[in-house]
Formats: sequence, structure tokens, C-alpha cells
Amino acid sequence: MSKESAVRYYKPRAEFSLDVTDIQNFVYDMSRCIKCKGCTWVDHTYMPGARFMTRCPSATKFEFDAYGAYGKMRIGHAMAEGVLDWNEKALEIIYACTLCGACDVGCKRNLDLEIELSLEALRVKAVKDGVGPMPAHKKIAANIAETHNFFNAAHAQRRDWVAASGVTPAEKADVLYFVGCSASYTNKEIARATARILKAAGTDFMLLSDEWCCGNTLFSVGLYDEAKALAERNVEAVRRTGAKILLTSCAEGYRMWKVDYPKLLGIATADLGFEVLHLVEYVDEKIKDGALTLDKPFETRMSYHDACSLSRLSEPWTPYEGKRGWMGCVEPRLKRRRGTNGVYAQPREILEAIPGVQLVEMPRMRENAFCCGAGRGTGEAFPDFARWAAAERLEEVKYVGAETLVSTCPWCKNNFSRVVKEDGLPVQVMDISEVILAAIEG
Ligand code: SF4
Ligand code: SF4
Repeated sequence: MSKESAVRYYKPRAEFSLDVTDIQNFVYDMSRCIKCKGCTWVDHTYMPGARFMTRCPSATKFEFDAYGAYGKMRIGHAMAEGVLDWNEKALEIIYACTLCGACDVGCKRNLDLEIELSLEALRVKAVKDGVGPMPAHKKIAANIAETHNFFNAAHAQRRDWVAASGVTPAEKADVLYFVGCSASYTNKEIARATARILKAAGTDFMLLSDEWCCGNTLFSVGLYDEAKALAERNVEAVRRTGAKILLTSCAEGYRMWKVDYPKLLGIATADLGFEVLHLVEYVDEKIKDGALTLDKPFETRMSYHDACSLSRLSEPWTPYEGKRGWMGCVEPRLKRRRGTNGVYAQPREILEAIPGVQLVEMPRMRENAFCCGAGRGTGEAFPDFARWAAAERLEEVKYVGAETLVSTCPWCKNNFSRVVKEDGLPVQVMDISEVILAAIEG
């Protein structure tokens, strides 16, 4: 081979982007899976023993290779190449997965394959091909279309939590609190606590005059067009208010606003026109500024559960178009989202600052945390799987002897609470907003 042709050979040449509406963009990633199972096992160096060594809820529960990311990559590759058609089992395998991102983090330890995006693209393909999503997901989509919320509750009751909070939102403020469906309807304690925390910090905040669902479940199950319509509507509504900060108290909503809205709109997170913060990021800043003091004791041995959408799935989004060549090298450089820059420090620093809290870490923590099982359409389509995942995580809570389990997402709180109640476990499950408020007000 001449020097000139060798240079041509090494030059990246196949065009691709990270657009999840075209499965062909991820054929490289799906086809290069080497079945090493780094997506299933937590790195051995972090593990105290054999009990809590898996990171993939789906592969751990169903104990069959098809359910691991490696199985889904093979199914997706075969479908993208037109050698496999949808069938009932393939559809179940693609949706019996919490889209928790643990496989993506594990795979990127070695290979930098875009596993999470491949899984998202597969669900978009399932919908485009007329087989997805699952019936339970279609019901949620109908609820959202009809009443603009997940639960099909009366839209007029969305602000019912405000009166009981004792806080009056401002007409205009720099901070806009996007409450989300759960805190508006089923977990009003989180909305009330968030409002009171903001008041204690001296922060005026506004609400959207007509808040609609963030569309997390729509996007998660592959209903791309429906999710995009909500993204356009909601981002425009926030831009019109002039808010500088969009604050959420829900990890899933946070990921939606920070990562998936930009993905749906073809822009970078930095181009939204406002900053997206979870309550814990805001509170952490306010404690450091001296505007908030958490001085009321809370005597408990506590463990913190990293919600997937606030941790490994929360890194900012930047659209990408480039070329790929030999050994997968890409041009221009692609800054990978490997999950290591999620929101890990702030919630832990907040909890550790509370007098009386003894924070103990579970073996699977930060980007290796084991998903609670509830989010991204799993709880609705596969309730037994969601229950199993929460029970498995609660075994870890037992293992470290924690009395209180804290997370940053109503979906985690509800799923853990259900299992704790049904199984009579001696664990108190709380949202971090409730813990922070207790440390402020006593
Ligand atoms: S870690 Fe990546 S390459 Fe290895 S089996 Fe999992 S998806 Fe395939
Ligand atoms: S997203 Fe989570 S549940 Fe789905 S394959 Fe990956 S690790 Fe397993």
C-alpha cells in the first residue's frame, strides 16, 4: 500500500451524528459490542464482595443474555441491518429496561460505545415501525395529551399544593420552579418543602402560569414527536418568562430539561437561554453563600441513593455530527458523556452538613448506583420488575444498616416506599427536600 493510500485508509470517512431518530447512526456502536459484560458487572475494585456486583437491573433480574445491553445491541444491530423483524419477545426485551444508563457508563470504561443512545434509538424505531410503545405507555401518552399531566388528574388542580405551603410564588422572578407532575399531584410534600426551602433562602421564585408535563415518559418510550412538541412548548414558555434559572425538585424532570430537551431541539444545553438546576445544586450554593443554615439536628444513620437522572444521565448535551474511520476514531473530537460528571457531591455535602446525620454509602454508588427501577416507563409497563429492582436496592440499604434512605426524585421515593411498606422493612424513605426542610425548620 502506498503512503498516500495508507493515509486515505486511516482518514475518518463515514458520516454519522448522535440523532436518535435514525438507528443507522448507532450501527457502529451496536456492532462493536464485544460481549465483555462491563455493562453488567460493577468494576471489581469497588466491590466488597460478590453480593452487589451487578449494575444492570434488567440483566440481573431476567438472567438471560438478551436482557443485558449486549443482547439489546445484537437485536438492534440485526434490526438495523434488516435481518430481524420485531416480535413480541424482542419488544418486551427492549422495554424491560430502565434506561438507567449504568450499561453506558460500564461500557465507556473500555470502549466508548454509545449504548444509552442506541437504546433510545431502538425505542424510537419501535414506535416508527408501529410496534411500540407498550400499552401502558400509550395510556400515559393519552393522559398527557388530554390533561397535560401523567396521571390524568384535573389540570386545574395542578397548583393545589401552593396554599398548604404557606409561600406565595412571585409574579416575576429570576428563579422559575418547574414543579413537575409528581410533586404537583402525588408528592405535594416535595413541592411544599421546595417552596419553603426557597423562602428560607430568601429566594423569590415564580411558577409557569400554565405548567404542562415535561414529557419524560414520552421521550423515554420512544414517542419522539410527542416529546419534541412538549419540549418546544415548554422551553418557549420558560424563555418568555425571562427566568435565569429553571429549578426542579425531580431528577427525571431535571434530565429532561437539561439533556433531552436540547437533544430533541437540536441545540446544546448551553443554548437553552436559562440554567437548569436541581434543588440540591441550588441549596448547596446557598449554604456556601451563607444564605441557608441547616442547623436543626436529624439523628439518623442515612444512606443516599443516586437517582440515575441526576447522576450518570445528567451531563450536558451537545449535538454532534462528524465522521468515523479506522478503529472508530472520530473527527471532530467528540466529548463523551461518561457519567462521571453528574451531580454527586452536592447532595452528599448537604446531608453531611446536617447535625446528627451519619451518612453511610452503599457499595454501588455514584455512577455505579443500582437503579430503583421505577423510571422511564418501567414502573407502568413492568410493575413487578420495578418492584424487584427497588427490593434489590433495599437489600443494600439493609447491608449498610441505614435507617433512612434519601433520594432526589419522587419516582425513587414512591417505588422504595411501596416496597418498604409491603415488606414491613425498618427503613424511612424520604426525599432530600424533606430532609433539608427538617434541618431548617426542625
Ligand atoms: S460493556 Fe459494551 S462492549 Fe462490553 S458487553 Fe457491554 S455493551 Fe458490549
Ligand atoms: S439501561 Fe440499565 S437496565 Fe437497561 S440495559 Fe442498561 S444497565 Fe440494563
